[in-house]
Amino acid sequence: MSIRPILIHPDPRLKKTAEAIETVTPALKSLAEDMLETMYNAPGIGLAAPQIGILKRLIVLDCVKEDGADPEPMIMFNPEVVWKSEALNTYEEGCLSIPEQFGDVERPAEVGVKWIDAEGAAREAKFDALWATCVQHEIDHLNGTLFIDYLKPLRRQMITRRMQKLKRERARE
Ligand SMILES: [Zn+2]
Repeated sequence: MSIRPILIHPDPRLKKTAEAIETVTPALKSLAEDMLETMYNAPGIGLAAPQIGILKRLIVLDCVKEDGADPEPMIMFNPEVVWKSEALNTYEEGCLSIPEQFGDVERPAEVGVKWIDAEGAAREAKFDALWATCVQHEIDHLNGTLFIDYLKPLRRQMITRRMQKLKRERARE
């Protein structure tokens, strides 16, 4: 396993629609394991393949937050929201591609999601609370949508300028 570099917004690869996968190959499974390691190392609670520059429909997540609780790593190929609750929930979201920046985003409080797991099996489950927010945020990445796209334009521009500055600083290091 290895830790992959995470792309920082703005980057054209973060704005593209990712391609569906046809079969879970050993290479894709090992990519998913790298993504989990990269996510835990960051640390973060979710990561989508476009964030490491790979335009495939693959996300990983683990939203267990309690100290000492067992990890619950999830690998989802071709994840798709199949239903949404009418009830909404607001979370202050962040993103590993937009470090240190946060914003309130309102999304359905519960979602049903279907996906293909790391063994190639079709799965479907209901997510709520932080898991629902996280899975929707990660699926958005597969469609080129970032959480800042839900914020007011001025706030989005301010965050984008900060990220441009951060990227210039990192390039100089
Ligand atoms: Zn993100």
